[in-house]
Amino acid sequence: MKWNRKSKDRRKDRMQKLYCDTCKRFLADRLVEGICPTLGCEYDSARGDQCEKRGKLINPIELKTPRCKVVYH
Ligand SMILES: [Zn+2]
Ligand SMILES: [Zn+2]
Repeated sequence: MKWNRKSKDRRKDRMQKLYCDTCKRFLADRLVEGICPTLGCEYDSARGDQCEKRGKLINPIELKTPRCKVVYH
């Protein structure tokens, strides 16, 4: 699995989405899962839009080892 970022424009960093090469589509935040980027949390099943462990909003592109939740590949 490889992830690409949509935006080539740094000013639009906030609009970046993760692209799943296997699904051939950009993923909605809630379809991405990975390790929480929050220091001291590192919950391994954090959703792309929010870490359920601490209820903290996160940016999906900051997730460590993002996984596609569509088919878990
Ligand atoms: Zn996928
Ligand atoms: Zn967390």
